[in-house]
Amino acid sequence: MKKPFISHEKLTEIAARFGTPFHLYDERGIRENARNLYKAFAWNPGYKEFFAVKANPNSTILRILKEEGCGTDCASYTELMLSERGGFNGSDIMFSSNVTPAKEYQYARQLNATINLDDITHIDFLKDCAGIPETICCRYNPGGTMEVSNGIMDNPGDAKYGFTRPQLTEGFEKLLKLGAKRFGLHAFLVSNALTELYYPKLAAILFRAAVELKNETGAHITFINLSGGVGIPMKPEQNPVDIFAVGDGVRKAYEEILIPAGMGDVAIFTELGRYMLGPYGCLVSTVLHQKHTHKEYIGLDSCAVDLMRPAIYGAYHHITVSGKDNAPADFKYDVTGSLCENNDKFAIDRMLPKTDVGDLVVIHDTGAHGYSMGYNYNGKLKSKELLLKENGDVVMIRRAETPEDYFATLTF
Ligand SMILES: *Cc1c(COP(=O)(O)O)cnc(C)c1O
Repeated sequence: MKKPFISHEKLTEIAARFGTPFHLYDERGIRENARNLYKAFAWNPGYKEFFAVKANPNSTILRILKEEGCGTDCASYTELMLSERGGFNGSDIMFSSNVTPAKEYQYARQLNATINLDDITHIDFLKDCAGIPETICCRYNPGGTMEVSNGIMDNPGDAKYGFTRPQLTEGFEKLLKLGAKRFGLHAFLVSNALTELYYPKLAAILFRAAVELKNETGAHITFINLSGGVGIPMKPEQNPVDIFAVGDGVRKAYEEILIPAGMGDVAIFTELGRYMLGPYGCLVSTVLHQKHTHKEYIGLDSCAVDLMRPAIYGAYHHITVSGKDNAPADFKYDVTGSLCENNDKFAIDRMLPKTDVGDLVVIHDTGAHGYSMGYNYNGKLKSKELLLKENGDVVMIRRAETPEDYFATLTF
C-alpha cells in the first residue's frame, strides 16, 4: 500500500491554514535520500550530484540540496540565474543544454559553469560566442536501442541529443586544438529506469568510450556524467531502486574498465531529477464536485496546470483520499481538473474509496516534473508550494500565482 508522507490530521490542519490546492514537499525525505545517494557513491572521491533544476526549480529546494552537497544541472538562461541566485557557481553548475542560444553560453562561461556540448557544431559556435573553456564535456548518443536485462528500455537512435561516436573523436581532437584540457563524457539513454542495472550498463558504455577516446586523442578525461534517469516507483506494486546496488554496479564497471586503463582518477557525476525529488512531493486538492453521467467523475480544485504528466504522457500518479486509507477501494472514478480539455484527468477508471465533496485528495510523487511543467491554459493559475520541515513546521516556499502575475506580460 502506498501511503502519503503526511498524516490525515496534519494534512487537514495544513489545508485549513493555507487553502488547497498546493504541492507539499517533505524536507526529511529529500535530505535522507540525498545522503543515501552520496553514501552509495562514496567509493568515488570526486562524486557529485548536479540536481536537474527543471525537475523542481524552487529556490528553497535548491538550498536544501546544496546543503546536502549537490550542484545544479541547468539547460536555460533562467535556470542558470536561479542557480546563481542560490549561491551556486563554477564547478557547482553543469550546463547540459541543447539548441543553445549564444547568450546562454556566454552566461554559462561567465559563471564558469561546466558546459556539456550537445553537438559537434556547437564547438565552433561556442568558440565564436564565448570561447572554449579548459574544462568541457560532450554528450554521447550511441544510437540504436538501449537494452537492459534483455528488454528494450529506450531508443537513443530517435533522441535529438548528443554526438555520434565518430563525432566524439573528431570533437575531442578539435577541442584539444582549441585549448581544452579536461574532458567529461555524458549520456542520458533511459528515463525513469526502475532497474538497478541501468546506471551500471550506461556507465560501462561511457567508460569504454572514454578509454577509447583517451587512446585515440590523448585527451585527459576527468569526469563521467551519468546524467538523470534513475526512476521511482509510481505504482503501489513497484519497488524503489536500491541505490546502493546501483552505486556498487557502477563501481564494478569502474574497476573493470577504467582502473586497468590507468583512469582511476575519473570522477562520477549524476544529474538526477526525478530520483531526488519525485517521491517527496504530493499535490493536495479538495473535491469540488461529483458528477454522475456516462461515468463517475470527481472534480478537483487543481488541474493539469498544477500537474501535467497524466495529461501529456498518460503517466500514472497514485491517488489516495486523505483519511480513507483503510477503506475498500470499490468505487471507479475519473479524477479530473477543470480545464476545457478532455485530457485534464489525473486518473481514468481509478478504483478509490467512496469519495465525497470536501474530501482532501492526495496525488502522489509530484516532487519532480510536477509544478515545474505547469502552464497557464484557460487562465488557470499555478498553485502554491509548501515545505514540511524536519521539525514538523510547514512553510510556504512559493505563493500561488495571482491574476496580476498572469497579466504582467500584457499591455492594456
Ligand atoms: C531531464 C534531464 C535530467 C533529469 O532527468 P530525470 O529523469 O529527472 O532524472 C538530467 N539531465 C538532463 C540533461 C536532462 O535533460
